[in-house]
Amino acid sequence: MKSIYDLEIIDLEEYFLSINEKKYKAKQVYEWLYKKRVSSFKEMTNLKKSLIEQLEKDFSFDSLTILKTEKGKRVNKYLFLLPDQEKIEAVLMFHDYGNSLCISTEVGCNMGCAFCESGRLKKVRPLKPFEMVLQILLVEAAIKERISHVVLMGIGEPFDNYDSVLRFIRIINSNQGIDIGARHITVSTCGIVPKIEQLSQENIQINLAISLHAPTNELRDKLMPINRVYPIEKLFKALKKYYDLTNRRITFEYIMLDNVNDSLEDAQALADLLRGINCYVNLIPYNETSHLQFKKSSHLKIMAFYDILKKNKINVTIRKEFGSEVSAACGQLRSTN
Ligand code: SAH
Repeated sequence: MKSIYDLEIIDLEEYFLSINEKKYKAKQVYEWLYKKRVSSFKEMTNLKKSLIEQLEKDFSFDSLTILKTEKGKRVNKYLFLLPDQEKIEAVLMFHDYGNSLCISTEVGCNMGCAFCESGRLKKVRPLKPFEMVLQILLVEAAIKERISHVVLMGIGEPFDNYDSVLRFIRIINSNQGIDIGARHITVSTCGIVPKIEQLSQENIQINLAISLHAPTNELRDKLMPINRVYPIEKLFKALKKYYDLTNRRITFEYIMLDNVNDSLEDAQALADLLRGINCYVNLIPYNETSHLQFKKSSHLKIMAFYDILKKNKINVTIRKEFGSEVSAACGQLRSTN
């Protein structure tokens, strides 16, 4: 059975029409779900009893449970239990500009990036839209505050679960729903080219972030197996098309790994690769994990790398370190519980 949180408002409208009910009932249900935040059909007191019974037959109200919360300075991490007992996690960051929630899109991940903890657990299954929606609803209920920004950078590869992810984005973006602005939603991918092409056609103003992490195929092949399928030339060709169609600036994420990808030559190669592209680079201090041998680059090296990009007129920032004290590197909480 479908969860009621799997539905876009147009799906609900179609549903009501199909059972000879008025279309506007969809708005009412959405209001109960996303504005008044009820957790059963029974609480939807402006619907007649027979309709409530019909909804109960047709849709589930499955929920997730928060198994564990770790609180750090300006960051909380949540471990969720899914209806089939699988576990995923989400990380909440309290920024000056609002509360940003980093959510998971799959149980495990098959991309196999060498430095990433999530990949140690192979993909078990993709998440359904409702399991992404409920990460937001449950965290908002826990903190009694709104989440203003959503990033799809938790466990999983969003573009390996494209249809559900896009559906999820439309649900939370709907102004009848949680109403998170498209420009406040960022989807991050390791670079699945056909899905980047598909996203260019969606007519949705979300942010696209690419996990680049290396400026050459030689190095990227070693760190990210996906590069052997979609090497840098193919990736950048798709990104150019994406930019031409959407006019949206692209973010590149670059984890700084000590003595792996953080030399001055790497910085220059990155600047050369990105020259002329409307983009912005986010240098990410690596979050060390006990299972993997990678170390984070020293602050000095990160600064030197940053300077080279700046000199080459590349927009660049260094990501604030959030959450190292709450095992917030992707997949860490999941893998220790
Ligand atoms: N699969 C998607 C989204 C999930 S990973 C992607 O690859 O973009 C989100 C980001 O966290 C990616 O840029 C990933 O490379 C990065 N990441 C993974 N492990 C990390 C770690 N230990 N420290 C810092 N960033 C990490």
